[in-house]
Amino acid sequence: MGGPGPKAQAFRADVEMQLSGELPKWGPSIVIISLDTVNAETLALYGGIAETPNIAKLAARGVLVEQAISHFPETCLSHWSMLSGVLPEVHGNAPANRGSIYTGPTLVEIAGEAGYRSGGIIGGITLQDQACGLGRGFDHYDDRVPNNPRDFTRPADQVSKNAVSWIKQRPGPYVAFVHYFDAHFPYTPKAEYAAMYATGYSGSVTGSDVDLKPFRDGGQTPTAEQLAHIHSLYAAEITQLDAALGPLLDAIDLNNTIVVITADHGESFGHDYWFNHREGLWDQVIRVPLIIAGPGFESGVRIQDQVGLIDVAPTVLAAAGLPVDADMMGRDFRQQGQAVDVLSITDPWREQSAFSARSNTLKVLIDSHGQSGFDLVNDPQELAPFEMKNLDEHTQIYAQILKRYAPRQVSAPTAPELSPEREEQLRSLGYIAPER
Ligand SMILES: [Zn+2]
Repeated sequence: MGGPGPKAQAFRADVEMQLSGELPKWGPSIVIISLDTVNAETLALYGGIAETPNIAKLAARGVLVEQAISHFPETCLSHWSMLSGVLPEVHGNAPANRGSIYTGPTLVEIAGEAGYRSGGIIGGITLQDQACGLGRGFDHYDDRVPNNPRDFTRPADQVSKNAVSWIKQRPGPYVAFVHYFDAHFPYTPKAEYAAMYATGYSGSVTGSDVDLKPFRDGGQTPTAEQLAHIHSLYAAEITQLDAALGPLLDAIDLNNTIVVITADHGESFGHDYWFNHREGLWDQVIRVPLIIAGPGFESGVRIQDQVGLIDVAPTVLAAAGLPVDADMMGRDFRQQGQAVDVLSITDPWREQSAFSARSNTLKVLIDSHGQSGFDLVNDPQELAPFEMKNLDEHTQIYAQILKRYAPRQVSAPTAPELSPEREEQLRSLGYIAPER
């Protein structure tokens, strides 16, 4: 047999670079785990029904943010915000451009400058580099999904396996971004997980795409029994996903690694908007889990003040001792400071976009129903809107914020051509407008 294989050679090259000083010897590694479509309120950690023992174990060793808010209820742009620290519209229509127009650095690029290795392990088609451009700055971006028009995802076990395999080859500090698509619809957990939350429902509706479609498309309203059953299947998927996180979390040394678990957005089970996320700014859709453990984070602390996903990158960079780009809109949430509203929007490149500004206790919402406010303390389910006027100030501030970023935007990234199969898959998920 010949010499060492390519993996062993890469490992040796990393060790040599580290010994020669080209890679930093110190500085914690960073692992960002994103659970696509997992809302906070379904997790038992946040008062819901889904048990997640592995996530709970991490939370016991780190900080848990009670109110972590997504700025955009769709996959590609929410992740761009998470990794760059700037609002979605600063990135422009990344799914259409298949990349960001923002030239400011992401967490991955900043860490890369400091000598960190970087790996992205992707679980679903919407974060493929050719669909979203999120591979920018990564040394390694593993976004293979089955080439099957009816299945766009890689199961969690496989994602964990690939992530562990990549991490084990890294002797020096690294940043890993690990994305799991399993909680996204359809809700089809294994039978043993579905049984955990069985509601006694005996009807025929399942969590399959075919069964969910009449509700999702707005024609049909689920009965209370159907709703509880479908939500139990979603919760079961989350518990099943948690089990698959075990091998990854076990492979990480928390003494020298910062680990983040969060989500890009949640899922709607109410407000006449069923089993979907793209059009909603309710807390069910934008309030996500956020847990961070490792160097720089206390153990077993619950943070009450709200945090936006744009705060993740500056917080993690600061904790790792890496530079925070001055243009990042988020802040290191460990520092006490003035509370700021978290701004969220639905896709502004479609016909009707909704906008919300959320404080710890109040949400103002501008959507097709007009302008309303919600008392998040006394009405956390957001069922009793009260009338609000003169919200123009909020949208004007938002427009001014966006304007400041024009100097760091280019007209459009060079988008790779999509294959017809990929285009069809993205269209079936709603990420490309239907053909007229
Ligand atoms: Zn998503």
